[in-house]
Amino acid sequence: MVTRRSFLLGAGAGLATFGLGAGTGAFLTADGGWRRGADLPRAETVGASGSLPVQADVVVVGAGIAGLSTAHALRDRGLSVVVLEKGVVAGEQSSRAFGWIYSAGWHPDKLELANRSKTLWADFARANERDIGYRRTGNLSLLESEEAVEGQRAWLAEAKERAPDMDVRLVSGAELERLTPGAGKAYQAALYSPSDGIAEPTIAAPRIARALQAKGVPVIQRCAVRSVETEGGAIRHVVTEQGVVRTSNVVVAGGAWSRLFLGNLGVPFPQLGIASPLMRVTGAQGPDGAGYAPNFTWRRQIDGNYVVGALRNVAPVTRASFTELLSFLPTLRHASGLVTMRFGQDFFESLRMPTHWSSDEVTPFERNRFLSAKPYQDELDRRFEALREAFPDFRASAPIESWGGVIDATPDSTPIISAVDRLPGLSLISGFSGNGLTVGPAAGEMMAQIIAGETPTVDPAIYRYDRFFDGSDLTFRH
Ligand SMILES: Cc1cc2nc3c(=O)[nH]c(=O)nc-3n(C[C@H](O)[C@H](O)[C@H](O)COP(=O)(O)OP(=O)(O)OC[C@H]3O[C@@H](n4cnc5c(N)ncnc54)[C@H](O)[C@@H]3O)c2cc1C
Repeated sequence: MVTRRSFLLGAGAGLATFGLGAGTGAFLTADGGWRRGADLPRAETVGASGSLPVQADVVVVGAGIAGLSTAHALRDRGLSVVVLEKGVVAGEQSSRAFGWIYSAGWHPDKLELANRSKTLWADFARANERDIGYRRTGNLSLLESEEAVEGQRAWLAEAKERAPDMDVRLVSGAELERLTPGAGKAYQAALYSPSDGIAEPTIAAPRIARALQAKGVPVIQRCAVRSVETEGGAIRHVVTEQGVVRTSNVVVAGGAWSRLFLGNLGVPFPQLGIASPLMRVTGAQGPDGAGYAPNFTWRRQIDGNYVVGALRNVAPVTRASFTELLSFLPTLRHASGLVTMRFGQDFFESLRMPTHWSSDEVTPFERNRFLSAKPYQDELDRRFEALREAFPDFRASAPIESWGGVIDATPDSTPIISAVDRLPGLSLISGFSGNGLTVGPAAGEMMAQIIAGETPTVDPAIYRYDRFFDGSDLTFRH
């Protein structure tokens, strides 16, 4: 048995197949409820960039880690770029994430991108004037049974063939004891990668955005892009709620909104939302960095507090659950043990969400500035209790806060980093399936290299948009 991990279908989350909800100005939640105004952005505030430019070589839609990384790489290639964000910088997934920056346990096909990204995270950290919260703390998968150790041994053999330089290995005995201070029991072994690490999501992308502004790239917030207009089959400009920007290149980095945005342009994109909750608790003696055990997951923040993740989520049924059902059947089969589907109010809200609009209409993007998901406290409490059993010092630890986020997933659990040939000038970087904080920087580099006509550093083949439509065999890469 080969055991792999991902936030989508392993360590940190389950599957929630809801689409994006109604135009009520409310926050979408994942349990049939809509919260109004209660859930403020988690991201550190980024100052304004001034007014909308009249023209740019490339317009990036969305200021999460994917859009910001793309903009950095484009700017470094001498192109003029503007990043347009409907809410605030990193207001959605990129500030709500767990904070793992890792490649241990990844599907071998995706290792090249993840490993490249670890290098670029270090570069971002080094280049930034301020601390972005990136640390090479190591990542641990604690293993309790011989069968689990065998699973990781099989993964390791495959990974070493594909990425011989990776520092990941199995550890046990005294080394493992040293890595798990305060453990109440001895684990059989652990998969350990010292070069994996963490980034603090609430500050990382915002400070990367500030560095971008310092390079002269405008990052305009509260500026929803409504649509892309064409002339003679080529992109002519984007229409935003603040006005028009002339351009011939648009990069859609809209996270969980990319499907809706592209749908209005007649460009299909199989993507579904996944609700994932997290909880922050006060620090205690425990392992550094991030990792998971069979019944809990953790990340130690740079301030010493811990974040605890979920292993099972609720999936509200929505319109998208039906329209995307066929594409996502393999995912649903794989995730059946990790998710509870629930029919509720989100279904009716999703039916009210417009799927088409014209450029002069107020769009769902202006009505939903911050997408979040309700944290399922029962599940988080169970995981916290498991952490307390495994590391008894956490008995004295107390919950601080809980929150949720909406992960954007693709049918093969692999992002799209690609030109979209059916609309020349359009590119898509989205569908990170729960691992985009890790790969955002390398994905952005790849996106910029494709736009600039360079040969990408990492092989882009599995990230092509066309794979969903050209009969490619879609390997599920969790
Ligand atoms: C709870 C949780 C835990 C996670 N943990 C990890 C982890 O530990 N490690 C890891 O690698 N990954 C993790 N992830 C996944 C990771 O956070 C995402 O894959 C990554 O942040 C995606 O970045 P993005 O830029 O594509 O999307 P986002 O960060 O969601 O950004 C997209 C942005 O586009 C904007 N936008 C959308 N439409 C428009 C429009 N029309 N006009 C203007 N702006 C628009 C949105 O407002 C949003 O700010 C986690 C995700 C969640 C939710």
